[in-house]
Amino acid sequence: MTADELRAVHDALQRLRTELVEAGDHEIAAEWDDNVASNRDQDQSPLVEMGQTIASSRNRARAEQLLRIDFALRRLAEDSEAFGLCASCSEPIPPRRLALMPFATQCVPCQNGSEGAGKSKHRRKVTDYI
Ligand SMILES: [Zn+2]
Repeated sequence: MTADELRAVHDALQRLRTELVEAGDHEIAAEWDDNVASNRDQDQSPLVEMGQTIASSRNRARAEQLLRIDFALRRLAEDSEAFGLCASCSEPIPPRRLALMPFATQCVPCQNGSEGAGKSKHRRKVTDYI
C-alpha cells in the first residue's frame, strides 16, 4: 500500500474507534434508563435482565470491534508493509473492502471460508504449518 493509502486507513480506523467509543456509551446509558423508567411498577426483572443481556452483548460486540481496530492500528504502526495483506492467503485485500472494514485481516474468500468451515478452521491456521 502507498503511504497515502496507509494514512487513509489509519484515519478511518481512528474515526471508527472514536465513533464506537462515543456511540456505545450513549446507547447503553439511554437503554438502561428507558428500561428502568418504563417498567418501574411492573415485575421488571425479566425485562431488566433482557436489557442487561442486550447491553452486555452489545458491549461485547463493541469490545471485540475495538480490539480489532486496536489490532489493526498496531499492525499499521509496526508492520505497515504487511498491512492490507490477507492473513490467510497473503493476497492484497481489495481497497474497497479495506475502505468499508479497515480492520479486516482477511480477503472475502478466506473470511467466508473460515466462517463457514466451523471446527476445521483450526486446522487451516497459517501457524499450524510453520
Ligand atoms: Zn485470503
